[in-house]
Amino acid sequence: MDYFGVNVFNESVMRERLPKNAFKSLKNTINKGLPLDPAVAEIVANAMKDWAIEKGATHFTHWFQPMTGATAEKHESFISPTTEGKVLMEFSGRELIKGEPDASSFPSGGLRATFEARGYTAWDCTSPAFLKEEGGVVTLCIPTAFCSYTGEALDKKTPLLRSMEALSKQAIRVLRLFGNETSSNVKSNVGPEQEYFLLDRKFFEKRLDLVLTGRTLFGAMSPKGQELGDHYCGSIKERVVAFMKEVNIELWKLGILAKTQHNELAPAQFELAPIYTSANIATDHNQLIMDILKKVAIRHGLVCLLHEKPFAGVNGSGKHNNWSLGTDDGLNLLEPGKTPHENAQFLTFLSAVVKAVDVYAELLRVSVENPGNEHRLGAHEAPPAIISIFLGDQLSDIFEQLANGGLKSSKQGGSITVGVNTLPTLAKDSTDRNRTSPFAFTGNKFEFRMVPSSLSVSGPNVVINTIVAETLSQIADRLEQAEDFDTELQLLLKEIALNHKRIIFDGNGYGEEWVQESRKRGLPHIKSMVEAVPHLISEKTIQVFSKHKVLSEKELHSRYEILMEQYIKNINIEAQTMIYMTKRQIIPAGIKYVSNLAASINSVKNASADAVVSTQEAILIETSKTLASLKEKLNQLEMATDEAKSIEEIYEKGVCYHDRVFMAMKALRIEADTLETIVDEELWPLPTYAQMLFML
Ligand code: ADP
Ligand code: MG
Repeated sequence: MDYFGVNVFNESVMRERLPKNAFKSLKNTINKGLPLDPAVAEIVANAMKDWAIEKGATHFTHWFQPMTGATAEKHESFISPTTEGKVLMEFSGRELIKGEPDASSFPSGGLRATFEARGYTAWDCTSPAFLKEEGGVVTLCIPTAFCSYTGEALDKKTPLLRSMEALSKQAIRVLRLFGNETSSNVKSNVGPEQEYFLLDRKFFEKRLDLVLTGRTLFGAMSPKGQELGDHYCGSIKERVVAFMKEVNIELWKLGILAKTQHNELAPAQFELAPIYTSANIATDHNQLIMDILKKVAIRHGLVCLLHEKPFAGVNGSGKHNNWSLGTDDGLNLLEPGKTPHENAQFLTFLSAVVKAVDVYAELLRVSVENPGNEHRLGAHEAPPAIISIFLGDQLSDIFEQLANGGLKSSKQGGSITVGVNTLPTLAKDSTDRNRTSPFAFTGNKFEFRMVPSSLSVSGPNVVINTIVAETLSQIADRLEQAEDFDTELQLLLKEIALNHKRIIFDGNGYGEEWVQESRKRGLPHIKSMVEAVPHLISEKTIQVFSKHKVLSEKELHSRYEILMEQYIKNINIEAQTMIYMTKRQIIPAGIKYVSNLAASINSVKNASADAVVSTQEAILIETSKTLASLKEKLNQLEMATDEAKSIEEIYEKGVCYHDRVFMAMKALRIEADTLETIVDEELWPLPTYAQMLFML
């Protein structure tokens, strides 16, 4: 309690330090989205500066989230020269509100050419400013949105804020129809559970693949993996607890509600979950969590890996994105109610989500794309690459009944009569757990489980917010015109249930039967990133994003290009790293070993003509054969990369990286991993899986 939020310029600090009027005006901007008065900005800037300097800050930065998915900052000191050769510490309202970083060096997908480099950052006063303490330097960080000179969003925050606004607008329309006159704003609330790996830094440093790509591109499986299930929620090692303690202290100081921590299923894998908050702040906080996990790990002689699949053969990492709808006066719209009236409203919002997920499944699928996630989805460790919704027994039954012409009984209770006013009382948390579902209703929220561990949660939430805004707007359009609200609602819910129940699936998502069944239902099964990304620029996507003013066609095209490029560049870096390691580390180790064997055969034979050297000979043959096929696979990878590089058109290039380069990488790895299991441990240049996963 003593230090929670001490590094945040939060509401209580503002109340204390701002004149009453300025505080009120700023609150109006934050809560109601009213324009910010420049005079108020001046006052806030000054108060912020004084507060920061008292806490030791010398610099400030606009902290933003470019399309790299990481955060960006350019520090500026507060100093301003005086005529006497001294300095004053200054920070103006203008500096608070607006920054002008060079936009050309960030990915823009063609939105900014190098010669028109100007970009702007704009203060997001809905997310509080905070202090970063690093290496003895304290920096005031101001969360900002980042856009081009012509106003296109170049970042992950702007579309998120826009999508939240769109969602709020449509949700309020629906609430008014249900007679709610008190709520004025609806927010999407998000709680992202962050998974990560830790490993000893001394192993990390010897693995160029981990250093450059975040995952092991080679490595034979350790004799023991995760099969005993003895790591999951097991007693946490002292070294790791000490690390977690320091992470928590850093996070709490930043006002981040770090709450849950535990060992995950894979050895050396862990999870941290904060208490949920509004999507915008949750996204900022998650970016900070990832940053702090990495930085604190270094201090403990550890390295934190956020990659989706650092190690083959054990589970990878994801980020469960818990999502719900909350009003400014404290209602959770996904909470089943106590009265039939509340339940009609609940079922309406629930139906809006079900419809949205069914209609825009492809878009949701794109929203969780990054090169790392391809190793997880559909690999029986994370949800399949097919989107479906888990509702649980009772709600699935209600949906079925709605589809069949109205509600007659609830699985939980006695029979009831048809009609909106007589919907059953729903038992809270009646849903069972289903770990295989990509989009599961868990009592009063949805858990989107496909999100990759290293990705910003902005994208997935932009999509959920926007598509739900769309289905809510369709519902509002219908009901606002209705002659009889109850009848029309009944009809509407029936229609949604009938048309979209195909997306509801409560069974085992890992089974092959589901792949068959989902095909029969006509659900899309998108297996790779190159297959997914074009859905970003489909007619349907452009239409829904433009309608709700979340992303323009141009902005969507830029994101399409950025994602394709991200894929291409990542695979290319991985391929180049493999080539380097094979040529300069793995092949030399193999050659040394065969030379040793040959020398041994010769010297043993020399020593005694009767000596048996069949072991050395057998291993020599095996090793040299493996070396030969390793070299062949290396040549193939080099050829594939050359071919991919020569392709100009971005989509074709991506396909080539996926179909040719990625496949060649897999083939090369098989040979190298075989070699690892033969070659003398002393000669092997890379730390093994057993060392990395178990010696923490
Ligand atoms: P589990 O691992 O069982 O899914 P955790 O406790 O690890 O559960 O994480 C659940 C996450 O869901 C937490 O971040 C929590 O704050 C969040 N959460 C709980 N209720 C809501 C809600 N109404 N809206 C959004 N997120 C929520
Ligand atoms: Mg979870």
